[in-house]
Amino acid sequence: MPSQQPLKALVIGAGIGGLTCATALRKVGIDVAVYERATELRAAGSGLSVMSNALTALGTLGIDLGLDKRGQVAESFVVLDERGRTIRDLPFKEVCDQVGAPSVCLSRSDLQEALLDATADCPLHLGAVATGFQTDDTGVTVHFADGRTAHGDLLIGADGFHSAVRAQLVGPETSQDSGYVCWLGVVPFDHPQLTPGCVRHYWGSGQRFGLIDIGHGRVYWWGTKNMPAERSHAWDGTKDDITQAYAGWADEVRAVIEATPAADILAVPSRDRAFLERWGEGPVTLLGDAAHPMLTTLGQGSAMAIEDAVVLAHTLAEPGARDDLPLALRTYEERRRDRTRSMVAASRSMSDLEQADTPATRQARDDYFRLTPHQELARQNAQALTFPGIPSPQPRVRRALSPLERWYWIADRTSPLNGIIRTRLHGHLQLPLLRRALDILQARHPLLRVAISGDDGGAPAAFRPLAGQPIPLRHVQVPADAPDADTRWEHEVNAHELAEGVDWHTGPLLRAVLLTREGAERAEDVHDLIVTSSHCIADGMTGLSLLREWIDIAAQLTDGQEPSTTSRRALPAAEDLLPRHLRGQAGDSPLTALMQRDEEQRRLLRPRRITPSQPVPFQLRRTRMVHRSLTTEELRLLVSACQRHDATVHGALAAAMVTAVAQETDTQQPTHFSIGSPLDFRSDLDPAVCYDEAGTYAATLPSHVRYQPGAPLWDMARAISQDLADRRQREEHLALVNLLDRAGPKTSADGAAFMRYMDEQGPLNLTLSNLGRHDFPDRMGPWRMSHTQLVAGISVTGAVVATAITTHGQLAWNFSYVDDIVPTPRAHHLADASLHALRSALSSDTPETGH
Ligand SMILES: Cc1cc2nc3c(=O)[nH]c(=O)nc-3n(C[C@H](O)[C@H](O)[C@H](O)COP(=O)(O)OP(=O)(O)OC[C@H]3O[C@@H](n4cnc5c(N)ncnc54)[C@H](O)[C@@H]3O)c2cc1C
Repeated sequence: MPSQQPLKALVIGAGIGGLTCATALRKVGIDVAVYERATELRAAGSGLSVMSNALTALGTLGIDLGLDKRGQVAESFVVLDERGRTIRDLPFKEVCDQVGAPSVCLSRSDLQEALLDATADCPLHLGAVATGFQTDDTGVTVHFADGRTAHGDLLIGADGFHSAVRAQLVGPETSQDSGYVCWLGVVPFDHPQLTPGCVRHYWGSGQRFGLIDIGHGRVYWWGTKNMPAERSHAWDGTKDDITQAYAGWADEVRAVIEATPAADILAVPSRDRAFLERWGEGPVTLLGDAAHPMLTTLGQGSAMAIEDAVVLAHTLAEPGARDDLPLALRTYEERRRDRTRSMVAASRSMSDLEQADTPATRQARDDYFRLTPHQELARQNAQALTFPGIPSPQPRVRRALSPLERWYWIADRTSPLNGIIRTRLHGHLQLPLLRRALDILQARHPLLRVAISGDDGGAPAAFRPLAGQPIPLRHVQVPADAPDADTRWEHEVNAHELAEGVDWHTGPLLRAVLLTREGAERAEDVHDLIVTSSHCIADGMTGLSLLREWIDIAAQLTDGQEPSTTSRRALPAAEDLLPRHLRGQAGDSPLTALMQRDEEQRRLLRPRRITPSQPVPFQLRRTRMVHRSLTTEELRLLVSACQRHDATVHGALAAAMVTAVAQETDTQQPTHFSIGSPLDFRSDLDPAVCYDEAGTYAATLPSHVRYQPGAPLWDMARAISQDLADRRQREEHLALVNLLDRAGPKTSADGAAFMRYMDEQGPLNLTLSNLGRHDFPDRMGPWRMSHTQLVAGISVTGAVVATAITTHGQLAWNFSYVDDIVPTPRAHHLADASLHALRSALSSDTPETGH
């Protein structure tokens, strides 16, 4: 579609939403055609209130209702009992003044006239009953009952409660009856109780009445009465029945019914529908009652349709929206979902409260209105009567995968390459609150809102912004007395989190699991929280900070706070933030120097790797893990021994792993082994990237280390520590980032040769990923935390990858292995032998014997 041509929108329905939408879309340069079922535009003879928020939204379109000609500003709002005695004078007018826009009551035909004036020359096709639509690459085609069709770039179903567009999107649905009928009338009327701009609601038992001044000597009234759906849906009573229903009520109530000709009284059932979380698909969306029909209690139905229209047009006018209309439509839906969901829910709960028909429920209702503090009523009203406007667009990641991300994605396509972070949380936790916290976390991080478009069609693999798919959260209840209850998280990680890839087609690229053991520790609940992410968007540090942020948000919600949902910026790929002298072509010579040095070393030292027990085809590879840890005392001894021997903890753990691998093969001669170490490079980037930004920022350098049977472990530990420090100093970890750009696979189709090389000769088939000491909090909000750790998926680049982290005074040391390349008993043996090598070194080391 050439971008200079205006978009064409088909709007079905010329009701309040459809007409406002037509004006709003025209204002942002979109061509609109409106299709209306009715053969003439004549709104049914009732009235309605157009609340302040709707007036504010209409104001953004320059639509003026022309209050001098039509309608009446609401000046007071009082709730009375059936005899007309005041229950509560509501602070309605005060709130309208505060939000800066009046609320207006008028007849539907007046409102329609004003909206029609605003749509001006927009084509309006009457007698066009939409029956369905079809989408294809060129847009959308709508079919009408008389055989006509219309074609456009996008379709907006503004066709009300019985929407045909919704029916096709959602399939058959039933409505939710609220248990009462609603009678309506508009009539010239005067009465001493009527003051200009008054809104008066009368409450009886299972019955209400509304009397509203709509100006120019007319009132709008409505009455409700509880009755079974069979009756309310096909009301066939007479005006006398209605008069009877209000016998004994306040004089003005009876008088206005009396004054209304029977033929002018309408009866409608009161109903809504279950809230729909998704309102569209492709270039099709819904608006107004078609999207979120609600009960009439709050008088906000038309206001929501008007707000929808303004937000929709604004979203379609944002840069880039035309290039991806489906995404723009999903963004509009996302922006409107929370507000309309809460309005639908509040309308229903107020309806249930106000239609009370037993002495106890009536008392509760009247007490609620009598006793709710003024401030609280004002706050609730202000929330409804304020148009929340258009949230600024959430930053989106829409770019090709960088070479690093692409390599992880290709490896992951072959077999899962997940990063997993787990923590244990002690205390009571509410699942819905955790769900909300996860949604907020997703709203904050652009990389949690992406899927990946594959490269099968020839275009490079790219991040694609998601259209509202939430982060999956799986909840597993574990019986507190189950024999394996304490280690159940390991089973979960092995059976699911390492085994099942993150669905990159649909996104998001992160999922979560909650394992709950109710009352497991002295009647306190114990939970294991696990987040699993694709390596394309998160390394270990990112996983940790996301898990921590998730719990922090949940803690704020528990405390009644409203955590920020503002999104972070979308960062460029790590390669684009390399220091200038390493970026692009400038990075070639450092990389070549590194490769030559490595090649030379490999030729001279001939380092050994883990020998596979048996070959396993890439597609059948599956990572498992063995969990081990050091006690607080062992950790203390380790740290002080490392200080004495001028080694890092990382060096010591890596040396212990090399020892285990060497001893496994009964190595009797001094021999070199390769062990990989991922180095975080966030702080080396330009500008530096902080740890709470999501992304993958580690490059794995191999160290070729000499194992000598019988020699102290500390020599090797020191050598590894020194090697990594030197290489970091020479910026080799940064130069390495360019390797994948130069030598890595460009597409998933050409990944095989690179994978084979990495598998058969690559220096990383034994790796230790060590996040070091991490200040993961011991307590957040009402919860105590323990056992925070990470587990790495391996996929195609190695046989054993251990991960280590020190939190809560403990060092967790998890050994991931590719099953069958390293069978489970061998993996357990390697883990135990690594631990044994370290413990032996510690026990034979005393401060006196150290260097
Ligand atoms: C008794 C009652 C009182 C209310 N009071 C208030 C109030 O005081 N304040 C308030 O804000 N809201 C009120 N509402 C709600 C309000 O009327 C609706 O929320 C509002 O009309 C929704 O606007 P809409 O454009 O989405 O749908 P509608 O106004 O229902 O418009 C839908 C349009 O689509 C057309 N259409 C339907 N099917 C097709 C088709 N297949 N093809 C082509 N055209 C089609 C219809 O003919 C209609 O013109 C009240 C509702 C009721 C029932």
